[in-house]
Amino acid sequence: MRPPYLLLDIDGILIPFPDAEGAGPATHTRHDVVPTGRSADDPVAIWLNPAHGPLLMHVIRTGLVTPVWCTSWRQDASTLIGPLLSLPPLPHVDLPHPQITTSHPNGYLWKRDHVDPWLCDAPVIWIDDDFTSLDHEWARERTARGQATALVQPDPHVGLLAEHLVEVLAWAALLPIARADASGISCEAGAA
Ligand SMILES: [Mg+2]
Repeated sequence: MRPPYLLLDIDGILIPFPDAEGAGPATHTRHDVVPTGRSADDPVAIWLNPAHGPLLMHVIRTGLVTPVWCTSWRQDASTLIGPLLSLPPLPHVDLPHPQITTSHPNGYLWKRDHVDPWLCDAPVIWIDDDFTSLDHEWARERTARGQATALVQPDPHVGLLAEHLVEVLAWAALLPIARADASGISCEAGAA
């Protein structure tokens, strides 16, 4: 049986929102990266906390969760961001590029329309800074149906803290071994 998914956002989580001067926290180091589709002479400045690499590796090595990027960085999460934190390649949820001007065009996080069918009935703990009350309601309803679901919502100006990962491991360690074998279920996560 596969451990529950750990969905991991990047903006507002590994890359905190910049301060008024456009810089990241003192704990974070600046990197200039060139996302897919962007010209090499037009890099993007990002700030990453080098301590996040070992923290996330600790979580990965426990085997208690199945880490998957869930971010608008898409495949660049694994090819650009992960290596800067010495993380191994991880799969990502293949999110589309919707023409939206808000993260909540329907009152809830836009990613959920894609994550929900991708998960099928799999248990999940999801770290993102952008959930609304409707997302928390979704998590409660999903859990009530027997699909354990937890949302972890760091402050985007601070980003990921060790306590958030402690919460992830505590949740996963207590998860009842109740999930039926997903083989034969035709959804991306179940088939992955
Ligand atoms: Mg975010």
